[in-house]
Amino acid sequence: MSINEQDIYDVTIIGGGPAGMYSAFYSGMREMRTKIIEIKHELGGFMRTYPEKLIWDVGGVEPVRCEEIINALITQAKTFDPTIVYGQEIVGMEQREDKIFELIAKTGERHFSRTVILAAGRGITKIQKLNIEGADRYELTNLHYTVTDKSKFANKRVLISGGGDSAVEWAIAIAPIAKEVIVVHRREDFKAFESSVSQMKQVATSLVPYVVTSLHGNNTKIERVTVQHVTSGESTQFEVDEIIVNHGFERSFYGPIMEWGFECEEYGISVSPKMHTSIPGIFGAGDFITHPSKVRLIAGAFNDAILAVNSAKLYLDPTGVDMAGVSSHNDRFAEKNEKIIQRYMSN
Ligand SMILES: Cc1cc2nc3c(=O)[nH]c(=O)nc-3n(C[C@H](O)[C@H](O)[C@H](O)COP(=O)(O)OP(=O)(O)OC[C@H]3O[C@@H](n4cnc5c(N)ncnc54)[C@H](O)[C@@H]3O)c2cc1C
Repeated sequence: MSINEQDIYDVTIIGGGPAGMYSAFYSGMREMRTKIIEIKHELGGFMRTYPEKLIWDVGGVEPVRCEEIINALITQAKTFDPTIVYGQEIVGMEQREDKIFELIAKTGERHFSRTVILAAGRGITKIQKLNIEGADRYELTNLHYTVTDKSKFANKRVLISGGGDSAVEWAIAIAPIAKEVIVVHRREDFKAFESSVSQMKQVATSLVPYVVTSLHGNNTKIERVTVQHVTSGESTQFEVDEIIVNHGFERSFYGPIMEWGFECEEYGISVSPKMHTSIPGIFGAGDFITHPSKVRLIAGAFNDAILAVNSAKLYLDPTGVDMAGVSSHNDRFAEKNEKIIQRYMSN
C-alpha cells in the first residue's frame, strides 16, 4: 500500500499521560513531526484519577492540585503543535519493508511512523462503577466517581461508598463542610491507613459491612438509597444529597501491545538505559517500561521521555547530536520567547 509522505510522522507516541505528553514536547524541541494517540478523549493519563490530590514531588512545582499539573503538561505538550488523536486504542503493529511502522487502532485505522514511543502506562484505566442498573443516569447530577470540586458538597448529606484510601480521605476532606458524611463499606475493616481511618471515624458515620443495593430518585437526581447488611441481608433506606463511589479501578495491564514480541519483565517492557525496546525503532517511557533505575513517578516519566525522544532522533539520524540544546539557549524558542518577554515588559 502506498502512503502519502504527509501521513508519515517522525515519532508516534502511544499514550497521553505525563510520559506521552512530555515526550511530545521534547520531540518538538528535537524538530520531529509528532503524533500522540490516546484511547481516552482527554490527555492526562493516570493523573486523571486523582485530580484533587495535592502533588508535592514534581521538581520545581510548589504543592498544587494534580489537575493544575495536568493542565500545565497539556499546554506544554502542545507547544510545537503535535497531532493529537483521541479515542483510539492501538492494538497492532506491522513494520513495512521500508521500515515504516504501521500502528493499527482497534477501529481499524492505521497510523504511519518512522519511530514509536510506547507511553501506555499501566494500561487502560477504567473506573469501577456502581453495579446497579440505571445508576449511570445520575452521573451528570449527584453520583460521582471523581471529585473535582469539593464545594459541591457543602451543607449536603453525602454518602461515600468504598473502604480504601480514596474513600477515607474524601470523607475526611468533605466532613468539615458537609452536613453529614456516611461511609458505606462492604467489609468490617477499612483498607486505608490506620491513622486516616481513626480520623475518618471521628468526623463521619461508618456503616459496615454494608453495600448500596438501590438508588431511588426522580430519574434526574438520587434522593434516597437502600443499603443492605452483607451477612444478615437486613436492609435500610435513608435520604442522601450526593453519592461518591470509590471502588477503585480496573486496569487492563498492558493489553495487546505485549504481544508485539518485546522482551518483558514482571513490571513492564524491558528497555536499555537509553529507552530502546527489543524492537529497533520502538522506544518506551513512563510506567509502561522497566529498567534498573526506573522511578514510577511523574518526574521519572519526564526523564524517560527525554531519553526516549533522543534515542528516536538518533535512530532517524545516527550522525545527529544526542540531545537537544538546553531550552535557555535554544533557538527553537526564539520567536516564542519574544512574545513572552513582551508580556513580561507590559506587566
Ligand atoms: C494512587 C496513585 C497516586 C500517585 N501519586 C503520585 C504523586 O503524588 N506524584 C508522582 O510523581 N506520581 C504519582 N503516581 C504515579 C504516577 O501517576 C505515574 O507514575 C504516572 O501517571 C505514569 O505516567 P505514564 O504516562 O507512564 O502512564 P499513565 O499516566 O498511566 O498514562 C498512560 C496513558 O496511555 C493510555 N493508553 C494505554 N494504552 C493505550 C493504547 N493501547 N492506545 C492508546 N492509549 C493508551 C492510557 O489511557 C493513559 O492515558 C501515583 C500513582 C498512583 C497509583
